[in-house]
Amino acid sequence: MPEDAPARTWSATPGGAVIHARHCARCGTIVFPPQEYGCTTCGAHGDVLTAADIPAHGTLVAAVVVHTHATFPVPFTMAELKLDSGHVIRALLTGEGEPRHAARYRGIGLEIGGGQRLAFQLEAAE
Ligand SMILES: [Zn+2]
Repeated sequence: MPEDAPARTWSATPGGAVIHARHCARCGTIVFPPQEYGCTTCGAHGDVLTAADIPAHGTLVAAVVVHTHATFPVPFTMAELKLDSGHVIRALLTGEGEPRHAARYRGIGLEIGGGQRLAFQLEAAE
């Protein structure tokens, strides 16, 4: 990994993709995005904040197709997803099928633009 590459914000696991966060041992808050300035609820910092993972599963709130971008291959679809953890994130969709409000999506690793990225795909209808 190049020195100036940003810290990886997610990982693929056997149980599905996870998004990296921090857990506050003092109050139980899952701090996301992860940072070292302190718990966003109680202000605790230091060793009370430990690594935690959020499952990359959630529900689609909104989506938009991007047709112009300086560096990323277009078109692509960006979405606002509400994760099961309650955190709302901006996320790349895989582009398979039309985005559906309130549909369930899960994160997967996708090779795009020369790198592995977290993208969300529509879960199969149950
Ligand atoms: Zn806290």
